[in-house]
This record gives sequence, C-alpha cells and structure tokens, in this order.
Amino acid sequence: MQRRFYFDANATEPLRPEARAATLAALDALGNPSSIHGEGRAARRLLEDAREAIAARFGGAPRNLVFTAGGTEADALAIHGLAGGGRVLRGATEHPAVIAAAGPQAGIIPVDPQGVVRLEALEAMLAEGAALVSVMLANNETGTVQPVAEISRLCRAAGVAFHVDAVQGAGRLPTSLAEMGADAISLSGHKLGGPPGAGALLLTRDAADRLMPLMLGGGQERGRRGGTHALPAIAGFAAAARAATAEDAASLAPLRDAIERAAVACGAVVIAGGAARLPNTTCLMLPGCRAESQVIALDLAGLAVSAGSACSSGKVARSHVLEAMSLGAGAGEAIRVSLPWNATGEHVSVFAEAYRSMAERMGRRAA
Ligand code: PLP
Repeated sequence: MQRRFYFDANATEPLRPEARAATLAALDALGNPSSIHGEGRAARRLLEDAREAIAARFGGAPRNLVFTAGGTEADALAIHGLAGGGRVLRGATEHPAVIAAAGPQAGIIPVDPQGVVRLEALEAMLAEGAALVSVMLANNETGTVQPVAEISRLCRAAGVAFHVDAVQGAGRLPTSLAEMGADAISLSGHKLGGPPGAGALLLTRDAADRLMPLMLGGGQERGRRGGTHALPAIAGFAAAARAATAEDAASLAPLRDAIERAAVACGAVVIAGGAARLPNTTCLMLPGCRAESQVIALDLAGLAVSAGSACSSGKVARSHVLEAMSLGAGAGEAIRVSLPWNATGEHVSVFAEAYRSMAERMGRRAA
C-alpha cells in the first residue's frame, strides 16, 4: 500500500493525542452542562475547565469566551454581533467566512504584493467612518502575518472595534487578545489539533457585554450563543490549545525552508517569501503549470497538498488571496504546502523527490 504524507495542516491539523484522550473521556461523561443534577454539574465542570484553559492560553478572561461550532461561526458572531449593522472594513485576503459575514457593502482594505494590509489605506478608510475592522492574524493560503498591533493602534485612534480572525495563527504564533489589542479574536479547535466541531470567540469585557447574539435558544453562554454544548469537541479543543505551542510550531520553519529550497531548484517561486509568515506554511508557484494538475500529480505520488480554497464541491477555485496580491496568471499556478504539527525530516525528502519528478514531467528542469 502507498504511504501517504500530509501537507494540508491549514485545512485541518491531525488530531493530537492529548486532544483525542480528552475528547474520548468527555464522550463517556454523561450529562448536559445546563442540567442542575450531579451529572450535569460534572459536565459543567468539564466545560468550565476547558473555558478557563482556552481563555488563559489566548490572553482573555473565561467569562468573555463564547464557544461556537468553529472558526466560521466565531467570525460571523464577531462581525454581526459587534458591527451592529454599521460599516465593516475587512482585509482583501480574508477567509470566505469573514468575507461572507462582512457582506458585499464592506470596505476592502488592499494588500501589498506580499499580502500585507496597506496601513495607509486603512487609515484613510477609517477616516471615512466605520463600526468594525476585521483582519486575520495569518493567512491560510500564504501564511502572511498581518501587523495586528499597528492595525489595533489605528482602530483605537479612530474609536473603531477590531476583530482578528486568529484561526490560523493561534497555536503557531504568540497569540494573545490583550497583546494584540483586539476587541475579539476567532479560534477554531480543529486548526490546533483538536477534533472538528468546536471553536470560540474570545472578547474583551467591553466587547463581550455589547455583543449581539446570532443564535438564541436555551440561554447557554450567558445568552450569547444558544444550543447544547458540544462537550467532547470542546474538551478536545482545550487539550489541543494547551499542547499547541508557538515554540513547537517554530521548529517547523527549518523543514518549510528546506521544502522551499527544493522547490525553487525546480523553478518554483515562493509567494510572500519576503513577508513574516506562519512557520509551517509555504505557497509555491510553478510558472506554466496549473495548480489543480500539481495537486493531482502530488496526490497520485502520495502527498496531500492543496491549492486556492477547496470549495465544498471539491473543485479548486481561483484564489482571491493571490489575485489580491496582484499575481495575475500566477494565481492559478500556486499550491499551498502546510506542514502538520507532527511533520518530520521525512516530509522534506519525500516532498523534494515528488516535486522534482512532477516538475520534470510538467516540462520543467531542476536548476
Ligand atoms: N478563518 C481562517 C483564516 C481559516 O483558515 C478558516 C478555515 O480554513 C476559518 C476561518 C474557518 O474555520 P472553521 O473551519 O473552523 O469553520
């Protein structure tokens, strides 16, 4: 049987053993955290332990953390719940979850060719008035890290709320609500090595107090998000949040750099190579070679990589991120390689060999 190698951590991270153990333990725990009997109280303790762990890990207070079903819901809750129908400004390279919640009327903050938000453009847009700015901590396709502290300063000066989609940066970069100067940050359990099904919006006290809920129901989450808690996923999310450290993630950078050297030797161009980036992510453009063909060729060789945003149809959509970075035709020729938390040197040698043979077959020769 063919051995498989996973390079698509930005789509979802492999489950961490700590998260698996915590999830399984919570699956066996009987009781709804909203019930007042002993079983309910035991479930409530699990829930509140998870809330404390995640809030502490990301620099906020437990009472200001709202559990959601994942990053998409956290983004929607932040944008609808804090903008209050007012004007939203969002980065040009945001995730579709933010783009959809911000809506077609949103102001789009342009980025430079490295994918970094243009601060002078943001300043000018803020001067025209806004209710909320939403910019991601790190991009899912290129790994580009945004200058969130500077963006926060501009928002503070203009008196505008600031939401950070920290779904890709959390657990890979130092990530603290307080230090970023944000009003709210979005988190997603499965991007940290937890199971899918749980995420969170972590807010400042002030933002939490004025958040308008999206879903009402049984009064869970202090009336900010109705619905019975997905306790097993939440317990796994907390265990993954404890285990995923920026120091460990930084140790992936040398592997990522070696992958880039191997690809560049075959004629690839590293997109956003000049920007501060996530340590596990590289976006490699092979001129003249369609991204979809590269993904298929590598898949046949046993490697899971991705291109653009994978739509639910399974097709590869042209990347709005790379288009916003003015890549032109190159936007359809780039693949994303994102190393999982448990990658090893073998990932590098396997990638180098598979990429070289793919590039050769596609008519490119190693330098
Ligand atoms: N934001 C970013 C930057 C992402 O990369 C993703 C998922 O890829 C999301 C939000 C959505 O998160 P989820 O899959 O948990 O809904």
